[in-house]
Amino acid sequence: MNVYDSQRIQNMLEGRGYEKTDGIKDADVIIFNTCSVREKATNKVFSALGRARKENGFATLGMVGCVARETDKDAFRRIPGLNFVLGPQSYHKLPLVLENPDAKHLYVDLSGLEKFDELPTMTSSELVAYIPIQEGCSHCCTYCIVPFTRGPEISRPFDDCLDDAKLAVGQGAAEICFLGQNVNGYKYNLAALIREVAKLSGVRRIRYTSSYPTEMTEELIELHGAEPKLLPFLNLPLQSGSPNILSAMNRPYDIEEYLGIIKKLRTHRPDIQISSDFIVGFPGETPADFEMTCKIAREVGFINSYSFKYSKRPRTAAAIMPDQIPEAVKKERLAILDDIINENMRSFNKSCIGKTFDCMLEREEKSGNLIYRTPYMQQVIVKGPSNEFCKIKITDGNKCSLRGEICQ
Ligand code: SAM
Repeated sequence: MNVYDSQRIQNMLEGRGYEKTDGIKDADVIIFNTCSVREKATNKVFSALGRARKENGFATLGMVGCVARETDKDAFRRIPGLNFVLGPQSYHKLPLVLENPDAKHLYVDLSGLEKFDELPTMTSSELVAYIPIQEGCSHCCTYCIVPFTRGPEISRPFDDCLDDAKLAVGQGAAEICFLGQNVNGYKYNLAALIREVAKLSGVRRIRYTSSYPTEMTEELIELHGAEPKLLPFLNLPLQSGSPNILSAMNRPYDIEEYLGIIKKLRTHRPDIQISSDFIVGFPGETPADFEMTCKIAREVGFINSYSFKYSKRPRTAAAIMPDQIPEAVKKERLAILDDIINENMRSFNKSCIGKTFDCMLEREEKSGNLIYRTPYMQQVIVKGPSNEFCKIKITDGNKCSLRGEICQ
């Protein structure tokens, strides 16, 4: 979502004649786009803003995104040289801000779909197009700040999302990634949208992120078997393997239900692979609770995970729960879980050796190596020649990334 927001911010600025620069010293406008899911990023952005102001005393300096909404006008007190603070649903006000760049501007309200109506037409030459179809969250997990920063769930009209996909394909995109904090909670039927977008001949790959387990409808699960353009890789956040912790997190499913969804997905699409999100060290998490998380991580064989130490967030119920877990314990548990997931990934990578996959070019490195993505989003390194799409035979899979040869 932040990649998409940053692209749109770049679009707005380019439309007004600005160009991207690599150096802070050369910039006329410096913008930090922020995420407030965990506390560390919040702290980091304030030091980064302070440093940027020291390095360049003249540029218009601003912060956008969730930390902007979280800290509100207090951001101006913390960084006196800051010019603007725009929340994740207010960054379309940037042109207004730049009309009077030396003043102080604060827009952090939740404006619903207004942003999407006001933003200029998207332009991009990337192969992957990120299309937000849903924003915000109404699930109220006890640890999560998103309902406060991005607001309650809203879904964009079906035709607007379809038009965005058509526009992106017209500009050369071949992979469509639908976005939402709860993307499969999309009110106008994600499965129907995927089916429509799959009909566009320029579209080669479709994926969506991030899903919520209980919003996996039968129709969407079945589509994984029926629609070949839908990648065989799904992020389905479990968060914890312990029923007690899931309940304290206000996650309304049990482990059997979660495993049932995976089983159905595998019935329809036997080669599907799953990734998850995990939070370790949630308040009250005992060694036995954590062991349940490790057990399920091994059993399901998640090939990837966004695993994080629990981070206390303001205004959330978990922040004031008793039995907060010491930092050292969280760190230790995270390392154990990371090892398990890495082991799953290595064993999946090994199983790919000798197989051939349709891959999409991600970038070319200075060394001349080409980096492709398999349908499971693994990185595969090959030597040229460069084609945007090609079949690659995997020759080595013993490390985090794969190596392969382009099949002629
Ligand atoms: N659809 C996802 C779901 O089912 O939860 C929501 C994704 S949420 C926007 C991003 C991820 O950030 C969550 O899955 C969670 O693992 C992580 N996260 C949120 N709040 C956190 C916190 N306070 N500490 C650590 N991780 C957190």
